[in-house]
Amino acid sequence: MRPFSDDGSQKEPFEIVRALSLITKTVAPYPPAALFQQAAEGYDTLLEVLVGCIISIRTRDEDSLPTAKRLFARARTPNALAALSPEEIEVLIGASQFAGPKARQIREIARQTVETFGGALPCDEATLLALPGVGPKCANLALGIACGAEAAPHVGVDIHVHRITNRWGYVATKTPEKTKIALDAVLPPRYRLEINRLLVPFGKHVCTGVSPRCSTCPVLPMCAQVGVGAAHR
Ligand code: SF4
Repeated sequence: MRPFSDDGSQKEPFEIVRALSLITKTVAPYPPAALFQQAAEGYDTLLEVLVGCIISIRTRDEDSLPTAKRLFARARTPNALAALSPEEIEVLIGASQFAGPKARQIREIARQTVETFGGALPCDEATLLALPGVGPKCANLALGIACGAEAAPHVGVDIHVHRITNRWGYVATKTPEKTKIALDAVLPPRYRLEINRLLVPFGKHVCTGVSPRCSTCPVLPMCAQVGVGAAHR
């Protein structure tokens, strides 16, 4: 049965295509998520997007892109990155959380890109997941952005995608990993990359973690608002 609004009327059926269309207009004034902005600025090889994603883990969007660009200003090709020491990379990405481990991972990925893959990472999820520090979110986002949306076999689920799709009632899961599995089953494949591109700014500015702005949200008529307290409805 469809959920009810606070006025007692039944909610409209949730339609993902319509929801994403409404959100497209809503997020238009806001800056794109860091990885998408990075690619738009030309740092869009598979290695660059993967490195940008690793830098962004547990790091604010506002810090992620400047940090990635600081590294790329010094070295952005596989050979140039592999020629840096982990200590040099750690200094360059110092504004990122866990800079030390990330620096070692980035250096090793660059080394493998040169020595194992002839200077270019293949557009293959299993290959990316075997690299140090690369999980399903970064692998699929990097594939979608750098290789084309159809190259990503799964949804790149971050905390915004997990939270919002559960609030909609579109999926019902407890973890981003389970949300990935659930979305893979129900989300039309053409939206695998798009949902992340849209829900990151939507989650930062509208459907925020603590105080979602439901009263002005365009998705409200069909959103189940799962877990949203009465104060924010
Ligand atoms: S802001 Fe509220 S109505 Fe809009 S998607 Fe989030 S929970 Fe649903």
